[in-house]
Amino acid sequence: MNLPPPFVPQGAIFKGIGIGQGIAIGPAHLISATNIRVHRYKLTNNQMVEKELDRLQKALTRTEDQFVRAKNGLPEELSSQASIFDALIILLRDPTLIKSVNKKIVTDRVNAEAAVNLAIREICAILSNINDPHIRSRLTDIEQLGQALIVAMRDQANGGARPIFVDGCVVAAADLSPAEVSALPVGQVAGLITEQGSQTSHAALVAQALGLPTVMGATDILKVLEHGDTLIVDAREGHIIRNPDEDAIKFYQTSQRALKGYQLEIVRSAHLPAITLDDHRIDIFGNLELVEELPAIIANGGEGIGLYRTEFLYLTRPELPSEEELYEVYRRVVASAAPRPVTIRTLDLGADKILAVSDTEGARQNQALGLRAIRFCLKNLDVFRTQLRAIFRASAHGQTRVLLPMISSLEEIRQSKELIEQTRQELTQEGYRVAEEVPVGVMIEVPAAVILIDELAREADFLSIGTNDLIQYTLALDRGNPEVSDLYQPFHPSILRMIKKTIEAGQAVGVSVSVCGDMAAGPLSAPLLVGFGADMLSMPFGVIPFIKRLFRMSFFEETQKLAEETLRAKTADEALACVKDHLKVRNADYIQGFRLAS
Ligand code: PEP
Ligand code: MG
Repeated sequence: MNLPPPFVPQGAIFKGIGIGQGIAIGPAHLISATNIRVHRYKLTNNQMVEKELDRLQKALTRTEDQFVRAKNGLPEELSSQASIFDALIILLRDPTLIKSVNKKIVTDRVNAEAAVNLAIREICAILSNINDPHIRSRLTDIEQLGQALIVAMRDQANGGARPIFVDGCVVAAADLSPAEVSALPVGQVAGLITEQGSQTSHAALVAQALGLPTVMGATDILKVLEHGDTLIVDAREGHIIRNPDEDAIKFYQTSQRALKGYQLEIVRSAHLPAITLDDHRIDIFGNLELVEELPAIIANGGEGIGLYRTEFLYLTRPELPSEEELYEVYRRVVASAAPRPVTIRTLDLGADKILAVSDTEGARQNQALGLRAIRFCLKNLDVFRTQLRAIFRASAHGQTRVLLPMISSLEEIRQSKELIEQTRQELTQEGYRVAEEVPVGVMIEVPAAVILIDELAREADFLSIGTNDLIQYTLALDRGNPEVSDLYQPFHPSILRMIKKTIEAGQAVGVSVSVCGDMAAGPLSAPLLVGFGADMLSMPFGVIPFIKRLFRMSFFEETQKLAEETLRAKTADEALACVKDHLKVRNADYIQGFRLAS
């Protein structure tokens, strides 16, 4: 393995929390109006309609001005990008779009942002069915246009110009929601920086899913960054270098190449199972956020989907998805992953994942301790039923498992299982094919669930530990808040003991226990989890080959000893020291490589 030597870059270095893989080098693209979430509300009188038409008109004018200004202001080396703006201006003047938006405001009485969003989605849906690559390639332009219009309506007070993304840019924002990250044009964006956010915030998980080198928690960086600054984002170290010198650029370009080579080398063995040197097999699955990730999970050696976070399908749109739409997506995932099992987690809305259709009041209540996940579903039975019907219909196409999030009581499992049984019967009566066996699992991510684990384990077909929330709720720390990220300690003795207790309870009743939170993806924590007895680990696709290789180089018996010893630690530091000490000799090289790559 040929790793570049350590390097201390000169220049303005900012520190944050590194997320995802690798290094990005590119011009800064500052997003000042970060909130592209679209709220929808009804216009109840003619005055409101007039006001919305006026906002739309102003947004159209402002957006066109912005495009013209951006085009004229392009530096010479980017002049080839001018045609993007011409194309956007033509689209912006397209009477079909304007007529459609107007109709939604006047006839359907929908507010201007939601009307634009709906019209753009309708046009994209039509275009995506046309089998002409040229037409389909316009979809991104149209989506960008929609976002620019929506931001222009939000920005009417500050007149903030929002330039169009140039290829290879690094997006910098105060904060982005998971939906906003998922809406970034990945082909154009090379990296991401935010002032807020942390390792296991959902926005970070989406950035990882998109393969974006990301640094979050870079406090106050927007005060100094300027649009167009050259940035290096080193996600491994959590470093951002602003306007680096030639040496730094050369060093990071070399590192990028070395990293790619190293990844390729590891990925070549990704299809091999994770069997330890003393012949113990650990199943390594992938976490899926966006359907587009599925091929990457399989190519990186994922032996199944251990966690399909379904909420992202609900977030970036002005209406709830229909059963048919959900079924189509789930069927595609389940059938493409087959014969590998797919664990579909039911909706985990709430906290930082807020429905675009929720009004401000609803959104305010949807905090981490509010109407989140299973609680939301059990209070919105129509939404829950629609999703369950789609999941069970998809189950006919491949091995499917259902996973219930944020369970904190037996009643929640029983109520959900009753609904599941009703759904199954309904579908069978209606003549749908449904798999005979669809195991129903429970996420263990709330302290109450661990305390009740003996009871819960008896009701569940499998258990999956969500360490991200388990740490958040046990240590009373917001997982997305960089101010407390140093206190967010996976090796905290309370967390380790809870994990051990959960696995023991599962083993006692013959129910498998897996881990799908971020601890499953760490080179220090993954061996510990296996030592505790976890059967399966589920993680972002990028780390699957590394973790599989790590286990192929380990002895199961050693991980068990490590687990025993670490459990005796009284503090997080002691536990971490114990793990590092154990893994030092065998994995020193590996961990250096892992750091290079993750
Ligand atoms: C977890 O909490 O660890 C988990 C896997 O769920 P999410 O990260 O989606 O909340
Ligand atoms: Mg969770």
